[in-house]
Amino acid sequence: MFSIHDEAQLTALFEQEGIPKFRYAQIENALYKNFVTDFSEIQTIPKDVRNLLKEHCFYRSLTVDLEKTSSNGQTTKILFKTQTGEFIEAVIMRHLTGRNTLCVSCQAGCPMACSFCATGKLGLLRNLEMYEIVEQIVYAAKLLYENGATLRNIVFMGMGEPMLNYENVKRAIEIATEQKKLNLSNRRVTVSTCGIVPGIRKFMTDFPQTSLAVSLHAPNDEIRKSIMPVDHTYPLKDLMQILDEYVAKTNKRIFYEYIMINGVNDHVKLADELGKLLQGRLAHVNFIPYNPGEGTDSDGFLPTPRFIIEKFQRTLEKYGIPSTIRATMGDDIDAACGQLANKK
Ligand code: SAH
Repeated sequence: MFSIHDEAQLTALFEQEGIPKFRYAQIENALYKNFVTDFSEIQTIPKDVRNLLKEHCFYRSLTVDLEKTSSNGQTTKILFKTQTGEFIEAVIMRHLTGRNTLCVSCQAGCPMACSFCATGKLGLLRNLEMYEIVEQIVYAAKLLYENGATLRNIVFMGMGEPMLNYENVKRAIEIATEQKKLNLSNRRVTVSTCGIVPGIRKFMTDFPQTSLAVSLHAPNDEIRKSIMPVDHTYPLKDLMQILDEYVAKTNKRIFYEYIMINGVNDHVKLADELGKLLQGRLAHVNFIPYNPGEGTDSDGFLPTPRFIIEKFQRTLEKYGIPSTIRATMGDDIDAACGQLANKK
């Protein structure tokens, strides 16, 4: 059995069975434009083809364990259970501007062990399959569609490190952006990495139009190492070098995420250090107030007060670096990375 999202296997099966190519186009349309929930709903194809599908494919592998919408209706968190019993999460964020963003997971758990992250506490359970990533996207797109809305943006900022499940993430992005499939604009898909240099190198060749976010979180190796073990393998010098290559090749601005943790990486002198690091580079910094949640507070971390984050912003301005402070959404539903799955 294979997933209906596996185009290569499906078209190979059709070829073997002598089924004309346009049947795939009909299935594609039903899956990604009409969001059918089962093969039986694909009315455009004859019954024998539908039966063939039932025999060889599965429509969905994930089941919804929990779906919670925040009290203001802006955020919906979906906790999925995989066939093998792991829990993964996706979050829909409805911005006031009308833009809808989905945050997807690419791994169950995560091997990177960043000290502030709930998912990091789980360790890596396993990589998600391509179709498990696509199913999260299709599920959310359908949910929005049924409410007269559309999915505009996808961010790989859920559980896991996308650069360590590269091939499956790659195929999922292709399905999200192919015109005949979900047809999202490449620049509205953002892959967020903790800084895996070889992954960034592959990504900039395969996806020069897709957006890249980097979890920086500190302007020097000393602090970065203390909260992100990945810095031992790929220190800032190597990271910044590949990011410069990325910008030279793609001419795209990089989004730097900087989680603000009280007393850890928010000392005012670090604002200047950050400014100096990014000065002259095509960068946008997104400050994320640390989200304390169950499972993440073992290090006693607390969020940085707002006025200090604003001070960082003003300092970066002096260096010509634009920045934003991420709006916190969905606090009442544990919408920070890994918080729901951890409770399980
Ligand atoms: N592995 C990827 C993507 C997943 S995490 C990466 O590291 O970029 C997505 C973002 O959420 C990262 O910037 C991560 O550092 C941040 N994050 C993790 N735990 C958080 C918390 N408790 N509060 C705020 N942001 C957090």
